[in-house]
Amino acid sequence: MRFGILSDIHSNLEALETVLGELRGVDRFLCLGDMVDYGANPNEVVERLKALDPVVVSGNHDLAAIEAYTIAYFNPYAQQSCQWTRKVITPEVRSYLKTLEPVKVFNSAEFPDSFTLVHGSLDDPASEYIVTEKEAAACFEKLTTRVCFIGHSHHAEMFFKAEENWQIFHERFYDGGEIKINDGYRYIINCGSVGQPRDRNPRASFGIFDTEKRTVTIHRVMYSIKDAQKKILHAGLPRTLAERLAYGK
Ligand code: ZN
Repeated sequence: MRFGILSDIHSNLEALETVLGELRGVDRFLCLGDMVDYGANPNEVVERLKALDPVVVSGNHDLAAIEAYTIAYFNPYAQQSCQWTRKVITPEVRSYLKTLEPVKVFNSAEFPDSFTLVHGSLDDPASEYIVTEKEAAACFEKLTTRVCFIGHSHHAEMFFKAEENWQIFHERFYDGGEIKINDGYRYIINCGSVGQPRDRNPRASFGIFDTEKRTVTIHRVMYSIKDAQKKILHAGLPRTLAERLAYGK
């Protein structure tokens, strides 16, 4: 079975459509949250994803859009964007976002292990970032499955460790790559952000989990950044949200 892995799409329909084109033929989609905010197409992105019936968990921005998460600590651009998103989302999109859970353990008949999905960390699914070995260690403590897929940082990277060993290894995937899922090891994997990469590579980032080959591959693809930027400006959203797409930060 092949899963397409999407995270942090952030209302960027151009990036999503391009990535879905690359993922044609996968059996199921996993979505690690933050479908909305920052970009100009929250309704279109959520409707498009919903139609794919993904296994999905909520991100902090999905919760903020339905007033279920405080935006007091967001930066001013994120606050402005969230207020705009709250105004424009349809009742249908709002209802869908309300159904999302923060953590999911998914069982796949073809994969010998179940796997976990969470946007941030298992301690704090909406807010906490896993970007250091220390944060990964705390997550491994709580993890009950071999593989955990995360989002939130907008960085394509993984943490892994041998089951019987405390030492944690950290690898980044600025330009894609392949992860082999081996027995005796555990993995926390972030396939990066579809709609707002922040690792100085502006290309949309996504993953494919092949349960037969036991691999997770991370891919980068260029999309029409100009079109996404135009829509952001046209919507009256902060200019910096358009500009950052070109720099991948
Ligand atoms: Zn995000």
